[in-house]
Amino acid sequence: MSALSDLSMPSSKSSEPKGLPLLEIRELSLQYGKDTHPVLQIGNLAIDHGETVGISGPSGSGKSSLLYLISGLLKPSHGKIIWDGTDITTFGEGATDRWRRDSIGFVFQDFHLIDEVSPLENVLIPASFVGWRIDAATRKRAHDLLDQVGVPLARKSTSDLSRGEQQRVAIARALLFDPPIILADEPTASLDDAASKTATDILFSLAGPNRTIITVSHDMDVIDRCARVLRFDKGALIDDSANIKAKAGIA
Ligand code: ADP
Ligand code: MG
Repeated sequence: MSALSDLSMPSSKSSEPKGLPLLEIRELSLQYGKDTHPVLQIGNLAIDHGETVGISGPSGSGKSSLLYLISGLLKPSHGKIIWDGTDITTFGEGATDRWRRDSIGFVFQDFHLIDEVSPLENVLIPASFVGWRIDAATRKRAHDLLDQVGVPLARKSTSDLSRGEQQRVAIARALLFDPPIILADEPTASLDDAASKTATDILFSLAGPNRTIITVSHDMDVIDRCARVLRFDKGALIDDSANIKAKAGIA
């Protein structure tokens, strides 16, 4: 597997710091049913460009819901989700989809891959939603990404891959449009130790001043590599602290 430092496209559209936080959450709450108790409530939270943020907390504490909200996959019951100064909760469906495609690479907990098609076709899924024919440059990028995450290109069907390889396909897919923001939900949850380490190394090799990584995890090896850790319990943010180990580069 080659170094991943060259995974950004030359004309990267990474967001430039403008003095605003990258993400600002205000008075956010989410209820899944009308008269139910909110599963998530956050008064105020800001995340800056280039941060690596780990989100931990017991099962059911609202971690996945938070990732879905900030990626625009879910609408909050109340509150603002402001990315680069723009409140995405005001977007219609089409605008949300376009914004997400340009801004967010999402690595889902259970990969969300299509087993029957090749790894290359899985990486190209986001391009197939754009509505145009997939151009040669996008195909080449998908090919290069798979090569760089070390997935065998010759496989016809993704179900032939190991779980570790499948997760690397999911990471490659999240990078197709070179997004400035990577969101990952338990990226190592179903992987053995060696595959976890590879996936974690790939994920953190993507970090940089113009790329922000927000990852939910139970895995201390992942959390330890995040410079900032948010802890949730019962839908509330109960701790927000700098991770001294990661800052010192000893994680
Ligand atoms: P976590 O990722 O921390 O395990 P989730 O965000 O998945 O937590 O879930 C938070 C709470 O919301 C849980 O109580 C869960 O049961 C509930 N929940 C999640 N998704 C739905 C849904 N689609 N409908 C109703 N309740 C849901
Ligand atoms: Mg979850």
